[in-house]
Amino acid sequence: MRLLHPRPQRPARAALLGLLLCALLPAGSARPAAPDTDAAAFLARLEGAWQTRDLEGWLALWDFSSPEHKAFEEETVRIAFSSDETVLNFLRRPAPPEGAKRFGADVQVFAATEPRAQVSYWRLEAERRAAGWAIVSRQEAGQVDGLVHLSLGPRAWRARGVSLRLEDFELRMEDGTLYATPEALGPTAFAFVGRARVHFSPLPPSEREQLRQYSGRPALDREIAWAFIRLHPADFHRALETGKLEPETNPGPRRSEAERVWRERSQRSFTIDAPLPRSPWWLMPSPGDAIVDFPWGRKRVLTFALSSGEPEDVNLFDRDRRYQICTYPSGGRAPRYSEDDRRMVDVLDNDITARFDPERLEVLATHSMRVKLLSPTSTLRLRLHDDFRVASVTTEEGGSLLFFRVRDQGNLVVSLGPLAGREEPFTLTTRYSGRHDPAPVDQELVQVSAPGGVNYADEAFIDRPPFVYSNRTAWYPRPPNEDFATARVRIESPAGWLGVAGGELVSLRTEGGRTRAEYRLEQPGKFVTALVGRLADVGLRQEGEQAVRGFAGPRTRGETLDQMRAAQEMLAFYAERFGPSPYPTLGLVVAEGETPGGHSPPGLVYLQVRPPVLRSRSLPEDPSNFSDLPGFFLAHETAHQWWGQGTAPANYRERWLSEAWAQYCAALWLRERLGEGAFRSMMDRMARWATRYDSSGPIHLGQRLGHVEQDGRVFRAVVYDKGAWVLHMLRGIVGDEAFFAGARAFLKRFRYAKAGTEDLRVALEEASGRDLRPYFERWIYGTGLPVLLWSSRTEETDGGFRTSIDVRPQGLPGPLPLQLAAVTAAGSEARTVIVGTEGGSWTIETRQKPRRVTLNDDRGLLARVARVPAPPQR
Ligand SMILES: [Zn+2]
Repeated sequence: MRLLHPRPQRPARAALLGLLLCALLPAGSARPAAPDTDAAAFLARLEGAWQTRDLEGWLALWDFSSPEHKAFEEETVRIAFSSDETVLNFLRRPAPPEGAKRFGADVQVFAATEPRAQVSYWRLEAERRAAGWAIVSRQEAGQVDGLVHLSLGPRAWRARGVSLRLEDFELRMEDGTLYATPEALGPTAFAFVGRARVHFSPLPPSEREQLRQYSGRPALDREIAWAFIRLHPADFHRALETGKLEPETNPGPRRSEAERVWRERSQRSFTIDAPLPRSPWWLMPSPGDAIVDFPWGRKRVLTFALSSGEPEDVNLFDRDRRYQICTYPSGGRAPRYSEDDRRMVDVLDNDITARFDPERLEVLATHSMRVKLLSPTSTLRLRLHDDFRVASVTTEEGGSLLFFRVRDQGNLVVSLGPLAGREEPFTLTTRYSGRHDPAPVDQELVQVSAPGGVNYADEAFIDRPPFVYSNRTAWYPRPPNEDFATARVRIESPAGWLGVAGGELVSLRTEGGRTRAEYRLEQPGKFVTALVGRLADVGLRQEGEQAVRGFAGPRTRGETLDQMRAAQEMLAFYAERFGPSPYPTLGLVVAEGETPGGHSPPGLVYLQVRPPVLRSRSLPEDPSNFSDLPGFFLAHETAHQWWGQGTAPANYRERWLSEAWAQYCAALWLRERLGEGAFRSMMDRMARWATRYDSSGPIHLGQRLGHVEQDGRVFRAVVYDKGAWVLHMLRGIVGDEAFFAGARAFLKRFRYAKAGTEDLRVALEEASGRDLRPYFERWIYGTGLPVLLWSSRTEETDGGFRTSIDVRPQGLPGPLPLQLAAVTAAGSEARTVIVGTEGGSWTIETRQKPRRVTLNDDRGLLARVARVPAPPQR
């Protein structure tokens, strides 16, 4: 396993369009033939009437309740039949049993009148009458409109000194020709050819730094020769200085270049990839949305996009390289939100029965998810890896449900039908199977990157680590964002293999060459993990409320027993500081792997240890490599049960609430267990990493740190190590009692819930009565570490020595405690003072003459400390 580079969790714009597509795709699975032959014939007549645009034939299939009803239907169908092309499909062909009195049919109706089209989704109800089947009602069940065919029209404007202005962005067309779509569509897509200047200067400093990492400068400003633009027609006059446009009298010369730009770019923005007649179709952008493509150097094209539906709506992409360079909220709004703010559904419980065949990486599973709709919705979009083929989606309350998969998007979209407005919880059961190799985990993980490949096949003395089916890939259907839910997991594997999930082991037995284990997670967890490996249960350790059950690999039984004891001690240590563990029954899997590391899903800790044969190999320096400090990995992972699992970060920017806390908890544990020396060693190394990468971006850039540079160390140095230091300094500011009381209050308030930086700040402020905003602004939302310039002078006094220490800080966000010490042959005389932003002078009295004077020896402050010559004596 290796650590993948962190990447932004938000999908690119193209993926968002998938949501719209889902309703368009026909159902995948075939159904048994209809036993009711009358119904089959009726459906064939219905299709035939539509296909031949036989209005009278269509109306003859109906039994109308009133003349108005008939008139309305006639008008609707007349419009559809007058289009250039119309197609009616059954989403699933109804097959009512013999003797049925009524049935429903879900249909998709496509209608195109060039250059526009729309797709309607209807539910038809049919009832048996004396003369045979008749349609009695038609309900609208959603539609996708605004589908258009784009083309470059004949018209063109001369653009001289004309600007297109969007948030933080300007395209100034110095001299050139602007070609546009035909009048029938309105001005929505444009190709500009000539001489223009593109300027993009993001408002947030951290976004300017990301841009600098990508382009070498904090703002884009460059001359370009072409641009491709998409807008809503209503924005044409608002965003563009249209008053300055003049008709182009000679559009010919630049026309072929404009057509090249059009061919290369027009298919890539707001395009629908769906099996519709006359595809491809484009969507009309929503008002306020926009896309501008422009060249960057010889080979690259950058895309500036405004996407009003997103919490962070201003974006700059390098789509070819899949770099999300900038993304932030418009209007100077702070990027503080929860990814759950617009969710449609709350998952209450996951129930998974899965059969794993690890030799062939095959999974056959049934997943039942108890959900509550938070707002009425006709479709539910879930994530499920494309490796899996879905056999059925059913519900006790609504029978068999329609489902769709959108190509290459890892989506499973379920049409809820009659459950669309249901207020009570209901259960969705999905049966699926496939060959799936789970990717390495990327959250609540600490692992050192591997020095070089180990071939497990060749080195027979090394166990293959277990397969970890966790949150990295969707190995069971789940909403787009992690969702706290209880879980029951039954895992079947070949004998000799064992599947482990979080929570309590309810039963375990091996018979007929198969091992079956069942787990119950009584407390809500963000996701379900299954670890499948050559593992064995080594028993349960119960200490007070906390139980730890160990699972060992073939050679790790002894080590597992040791680690279980250590885990119990750590859990007790954390419980004392942070309150009871969110998951009182914890599984602990200890297995061998090429590099040491771990992963911490809810109610489960996976610890990877190096086999003896590899332990002498050195590991690369890394911001998360403290493998020389025994217990570090386990201490980090167990802390995640509180930080990251019991309470989760509200979005990708808030990862430090998980990782910085886990890292700091590990440091506290090492101090407890190994003493002050181990603690200081860890704090010093974290300080070096934090100092080295601080300027790369603020902690609050979260998983985007290092994305543009493709260097995962940046993320770990800033989020893990600088984050741990920030917690340490906050603790120094508010004092131990308020710090831990605030942390406990925060965890209690957000137990089994998501939280953000502001929630932590408020909790610590309430516990301490201090205003911590300046510290959070500088350390979490900003960059820049303090510098302490200091000097000292010692003079002899009656019976001793007086040392004066003068401290001049730079970049201190507010008052902070600082330890000053004078070291003599008799020992160290230390005092802790509060340094304000202006600095100050303090004295230390000693009996003997100090050999040296030190600052910050207790590692209270993350700062660059530099001694300067003392000012001349007065
Ligand atoms: Zn971690």
